Amino acid sequence: MYDIVIIGAGITGTMLARDLSRYRLHVALIDKENDIADGATMANSAIVHVGYDPEDDTLKALLNVEGARMYEKICEDLGCHRKVTGAYVAACGEVEEKHLDILADRAERRGITYEWLSGDEARKEEENLSEQVTKVLSFPTTAVIYPWEVAIACAEVAVTNGVEIYLNTCCERITKEEDHFVIHTNNGDYETRYVINASGVGAEKVYRMVCDTPEFKITPRRGEYFVLDHQVHYVNHIIFPVPSAEKGKGVLAVPTVFGNTLLGPNSDYVDDPEDTGTSFEGLDYVRANLTKTMKNVPYRYVIRNFAGLRPSSSCPDFIIEEAKTVPGFINAASIESPGLASAPAVSQYIIQNILKKHLELTEKENVCLTREKPLAMADLTPEEKAEAIRKNPLYGKIICRCEQISEGEILDCIHRPCGAHTVKGVKKRVRPGMGRCQGGFCEPRVLNILARELNISPTEVVLDAKNAKILESENR
Ligand SMILES: Cc1cc2nc3c(=O)[nH]c(=O)nc-3n(C[C@H](O)[C@H](O)[C@H](O)COP(=O)(O)OP(=O)(O)OC[C@H]3O[C@@H](n4cnc5c(N)ncnc54)[C@H](O)[C@@H]3O)c2cc1C
Repeated sequence: MYDIVIIGAGITGTMLARDLSRYRLHVALIDKENDIADGATMANSAIVHVGYDPEDDTLKALLNVEGARMYEKICEDLGCHRKVTGAYVAACGEVEEKHLDILADRAERRGITYEWLSGDEARKEEENLSEQVTKVLSFPTTAVIYPWEVAIACAEVAVTNGVEIYLNTCCERITKEEDHFVIHTNNGDYETRYVINASGVGAEKVYRMVCDTPEFKITPRRGEYFVLDHQVHYVNHIIFPVPSAEKGKGVLAVPTVFGNTLLGPNSDYVDDPEDTGTSFEGLDYVRANLTKTMKNVPYRYVIRNFAGLRPSSSCPDFIIEEAKTVPGFINAASIESPGLASAPAVSQYIIQNILKKHLELTEKENVCLTREKPLAMADLTPEEKAEAIRKNPLYGKIICRCEQISEGEILDCIHRPCGAHTVKGVKKRVRPGMGRCQGGFCEPRVLNILARELNISPTEVVLDAKNAKILESENR
């Protein structure tokens, strides 16, 4: 019997798994996909919003401000990438400028650092800011992260401290016994005293397994992006338009931790909770709306498009509570943006405000909540690279030419706890295939390395999902 089963290994579930792993509890984390962080955590703008956007007196406001402040230490502790780029909210004309005053007032009350710039002052820092921009509210402490890297690192730490993780394990039905739940999955049954529903766009469906009349409805809302190659430097700061009720945070230009630029997203409701395909209409919307704040967009450097699904909810706030009619069943639902930025505080909120009332939280001895930063050749000086290659020549064998990823880095990510066992899993962890050729050169090599290291036939290596085979058969 588990004390707690967390359903969903996105940033919410993995952050909680890491935080719970310090206590003497029997915890499992399950996910229906074949890797950690394959839901919204895999496809978003990657921004640690500082917290001026959510309305007053909401959990979103409280947990966003707190969560954003926790990220610097978390990324240090987990050896994850984080880059403070700063963010500009760019107003075009008097009406939008008035809206900036509301954001500045919230920032002031929430203790968030901000600065005012005229359009011309901002253009000195950002040469591609459109001439229509008349005033800018700057948030210099805004950062970007590599979202799934943080989730994978949290999962690694959790596993090292004894949390059990089960992938390809879809919660299909839940039965409530007198003092525990049984989670029925395609991969067996899991008995547990408490259930945490952190299943993103699946949260309403999972909640319906224990409650016929859920208080919220989740509808997937798709956001599509262009990705620019890091060979072109387009923006220094994250550029937001002024947010609005209809368009939310709007279409952004975001510099990523690895020097690429994201352009997007749009916002389209879709029926299918798996529909992460991009569309001509969606990308066209991004192009059209970006022209208000940005100019000279170098579309010829686009190397990829992608889409993510927001778990849009009938409730405008995060829903983080024990279900009123189902004691022991805890929803972490409606975790839309700023869900990534808020995740560290969401996890603490669940532990301190909900679980602590029910469970004895005794700290284990010898837990380790930190992770040594995996060796990344791209982050090293020439001298450090030479030293790494001297110690292990595989760090000198380049597998991904675009991103300069070595075989040593790939082997390390396969053999870590929660290691990569798919081509996309390797790509998520150490980035071969993220560059200009999008895996044209390195993907067959990564496939062969996976086959060798996992001791399976190359025909058994999958792209991402369990049945997504890449090779049909051997032909000679
Ligand atoms: C386009 C877009 C842009 C965004 N930009 C930002 C941003 O810049 N900053 C920010 O703070 N936030 C942003 N967000 C929001 C942020 O990405 C999410 O709030 C966050 O990733 C949610 O994490 P999660 O773990 O709750 O959900 P998810 O990452 O979706 O994880 C849920 C997991 O549950 C699993 N699951 C579902 N059903 C089941 C089941 N029945 N059984 C087992 N497993 C199941 C799924 O496979 C999935 O892995 C953005 C979101 C989108 C889509």
